Amino acid sequence: MGHVDHGKTTILDYLRKSSVAAGEAGGITQHIGAFSVPLASSGKTVTFLDTPGHAAFLAMRQRGANVTDIVILVVAADDSVKPQTLEALKHAKAAGVPMIVAINKVDKEEADIQRCKQDLARHGVEIEDFGGETQVVCVSGKTGKGMDELEESVVTLSEILDHRADTDGAVEGWVLEATTKKAGRVATVLVRRGTLKPGCVLVAGKTWTRVRTLRNEGGFAVPQVGPGMPVEVDGWRDQPVAGDEVLQAETEQQATSVVDFRDEKAEREKIAEDTEAINENRRLEQERREKEKAAEAAAKRVASVSREDASISASVPGADAEEQQSGQVTVPFIIKADVSGSAEAVSAYIMSVSNPLIMPQILSSGVGAIHESDIDLAHAAQGHIIAFNLPDDPDMKALAEYRGVKILENNIIYRVLDDVKAVLENKLPPIV
Ligand code: GDP
Repeated sequence: MGHVDHGKTTILDYLRKSSVAAGEAGGITQHIGAFSVPLASSGKTVTFLDTPGHAAFLAMRQRGANVTDIVILVVAADDSVKPQTLEALKHAKAAGVPMIVAINKVDKEEADIQRCKQDLARHGVEIEDFGGETQVVCVSGKTGKGMDELEESVVTLSEILDHRADTDGAVEGWVLEATTKKAGRVATVLVRRGTLKPGCVLVAGKTWTRVRTLRNEGGFAVPQVGPGMPVEVDGWRDQPVAGDEVLQAETEQQATSVVDFRDEKAEREKIAEDTEAINENRRLEQERREKEKAAEAAAKRVASVSREDASISASVPGADAEEQQSGQVTVPFIIKADVSGSAEAVSAYIMSVSNPLIMPQILSSGVGAIHESDIDLAHAAQGHIIAFNLPDDPDMKALAEYRGVKILENNIIYRVLDDVKAVLENKLPPIV
């Protein structure tokens, strides 16, 4: 992993070429997403995955699978640590995969190895030189310098970590890549456990195969493949998907029933999803209807308030106590506040100041800035707007003034109460 242009492909190409040269001469290296390098020095084989940024790897990670045992972090010596270097560091850390740093392009004049090391250390990489445990190898993908050392570092680390896998038992692995070739549907499978041979029955996602041929990256048929090895597997009934887990089945019947079960499960999940979507639509529709009803009711209230106001101003003066009681004047308010808690508090306060002659009526109470619709409502109801703890809005103020609607602005609750009382007093019928 590493920042773009820091030399990942060049390093892999170098390793691949040396492996082709060391192995099956004449074989045309095919791109199968991974390749293995036999090491002359130790007789061990290292498998390199060359698409670690690929979506399939993220899919495997999400399912808790670490197909990589070691991450090689490539840092160009002339460019040092860059955003994608940090991104790669984060991924390696999250996956808990141990790391080796390859400082690349050391053949370049501008190479500054020391700066790279310092930058890495600054970003929390505990490198060997500074007393940590992370190996740093200086390489050049161009000249091949340090490549042997890099391979050896991988083997050493693997030995320290004591990486082991079972060669017995049912085969397990992951699909790294899948495609269709002349030979039909093929998938590169990285075996993680067991020994894969022709004749094995494998299930991957919603497809299966009875393996006919296993081919390595050189295109050569191989008799068997053990853990850590990538191999191209043919004979799939349907196209497998990169990132799918591969499991061995005992028989073809077992494989087909697993696939059928997965198909049914997918079908059931789809039905469940559809049902949920239908229910959600119903709920939204219900909500919409309720809102419509509430809006209608509010409109009716406004109409009745206007009528009441008109009849009150005509009937209140000089009326006796009973008439005054029934003719209690209501003064409508619309409350807009910064948060719902304050809107509720303002409403409660206002409702506490009624008497037999007059009472405030809250037409609506809400959170956020004053809208034109609030002014319309206040105008229609001949009411007032209370703006509690809201930022100044000169446009709305101007509109309210134009429409003859009073906005009572305040951010101290008892002052709001004083304002409301003043309004109510103004509305009281004159005493004769
Ligand atoms: P990737 O994006 O990380 O895969 O980087 P590439 O492998 O495509 O390399 C980017 C550029 O750097 C190419 O022009 C390479 O030829 C060059 N490059 C890669 N490794 C080296 C190196 O070790 N030395 C020098 N001088 N150039 C290199």
